[in-house]
Amino acid sequence: MKLILDRIKNGIETIKDPLGENVYSYGRIEVDSETCNLCGLCEKECPVNAISIMDGKLEMDSRKCIFCKLCIDVCPNDSLEMTHDYKISAIEELREKIRREVYSTFQRSLTLRAVDVGSCNGCFLELSAIGNTYYDMSRYGIHIAASPRHADGLIVSGALSINMKEALIKAYEAIPNPKIVIALGACSYDGGIYKDGYSVIQRVDEVIPVDIHIPGCPPSPAAILEGVLKIMKNK
Ligand code: SF4
Ligand code: SF4
Repeated sequence: MKLILDRIKNGIETIKDPLGENVYSYGRIEVDSETCNLCGLCEKECPVNAISIMDGKLEMDSRKCIFCKLCIDVCPNDSLEMTHDYKISAIEELREKIRREVYSTFQRSLTLRAVDVGSCNGCFLELSAIGNTYYDMSRYGIHIAASPRHADGLIVSGALSINMKEALIKAYEAIPNPKIVIALGACSYDGGIYKDGYSVIQRVDEVIPVDIHIPGCPPSPAAILEGVLKIMKNK
């Protein structure tokens, strides 16, 4: 009875659908082009080369960004701002064209095998959070499988290490066709903070085809959910 009364008092605690603003998420860094004088300090300060100034314009590669905010701190004009816009994942263009029909197979249910290929565990902590009652991935038909043989795709985190290369390929090959690959975090995109490590191959897509990168270091649970749903809803 107490549980029922609590439920009535507190209302629905699960995050709203469709996903809206999420103040707990870091997201896209915005540049105020009115005040930015292209001094280049942020470009020099960024530890992962996510910022480039070309043709009189500052470009930000969200897939590389590790949300360290060093660029914001160093900017003398306060021209940079970190937003809560976490909807920055993007389906790889070429694969989207080839695989539009494949993605529609997963519209109602998607079971993923999670593989850590050399991460700090940050991405996986956020991944496990989408299973809690607040983010509640199971209401969308998203599940995590214990074996790649029971999965529709892989969700991969970390900077791909030499020792995990073979295991990743084996896990990918064990998944029945059609299958998808979701790369989680800046590390899986191009090595992130481990980029120049002696044991790191860097990009996951050097070894298996990646359908979508979900940026962040780590990506927030809302960002992960949004990215997975992008595949399922195919938009
Ligand atoms: S937040 Fe850090 S990683 Fe991201 S663009 Fe700024 S300096 Fe680079
Ligand atoms: S992207 Fe960041 S949080 Fe994720 S594994 Fe790499 S260092 Fe850890």
